[in-house]
Amino acid sequence: MPYIEHDPTNSHTFKNHLLKSKRILALCGAGLSASSGLATFRGAGGLWRTHDAMSLATPQAFVKDPSLVWQFYSARRQAAFSAKPNPAHLALAALSVKNKDFITVTQNVDGLSPRAGHPLEQLYPVHGSLSTIKCTSIFCSYTEYNNFKMALTPALAPATDVESLPPNIPLTELPYCPKCGVGMMRPGVVWFNETLPNDLLEGIDDWTDQGPIDLCLVIGTTGKVWPAAGYIEICKEKGAKVAVINMEIDDDPHLGGVKNADWLFKGDCAQILPDILGPIIGSMDEVRTLLGDTDTFPATTTSGGPVTDTNNDGNDGTGEGTGYY
Ligand SMILES: [Zn+2]
Repeated sequence: MPYIEHDPTNSHTFKNHLLKSKRILALCGAGLSASSGLATFRGAGGLWRTHDAMSLATPQAFVKDPSLVWQFYSARRQAAFSAKPNPAHLALAALSVKNKDFITVTQNVDGLSPRAGHPLEQLYPVHGSLSTIKCTSIFCSYTEYNNFKMALTPALAPATDVESLPPNIPLTELPYCPKCGVGMMRPGVVWFNETLPNDLLEGIDDWTDQGPIDLCLVIGTTGKVWPAAGYIEICKEKGAKVAVINMEIDDDPHLGGVKNADWLFKGDCAQILPDILGPIIGSMDEVRTLLGDTDTFPATTTSGGPVTDTNNDGNDGTGEGTGYY
């Protein structure tokens, strides 16, 4: 029976197993970014400016009201780009550097793992990224990566009154494709009713097929939703022990959404991961030295100048967040 509360003195069985583990897979959800100030929409009541956030994250919503959906994603881009990677992102990045047979499958679209210095070849962002935008024309395949502009058009500048209803921005003031000129751009995230990117899924399958798996880390996600749930089962079939790290582990019989987990660490993964991964990654000082100053964040303002990061306190708690859409 795994224990529920995180107790650093009682994590020695995990640490012993970690030291013996070669092939490790981590599954990450919104909880990974919680202490970076990015709340989940589910956790925030599921609302964005009176709208059900989940209902805005569909192709149908975008077709029906692109102005509203673009304002929603602009708010999420601004929150994500203003946030900073936390020690959990850094710990996973360091484990990746130390162990080339460790892969991370993340449902997060906030881009904080890449900014933490996580080796990209070991990172599978299966739900896309807020910093990716792509053309919606079926005749055009233009995709732009690493677009960190706070406002893609002047009309999408950060809202000053987040309590009021979003304004009805004319279609002509939304982002359009610079290549074909006719297609409206859309966020490069995977919406509900859309399929996950095949190349990433194949890459994960290739890795899981390569042999036994020693350890599966389920971080900041309940493990009840696909693809997380499916990958946990694959890891277990390959012999992996399972550790769950989450704020929301409770006493229900499913143990945080993972049946028969071997370890349950309840709490903020920004505190827990640096501790339990410590035998491999060392102290956080060592982690920062290992990773260097990785967050050379290329954010730009609408005028194109660099963002000075003097007041980077994440968001203001109004509910803009990331992790689910
Ligand atoms: Zn285009």
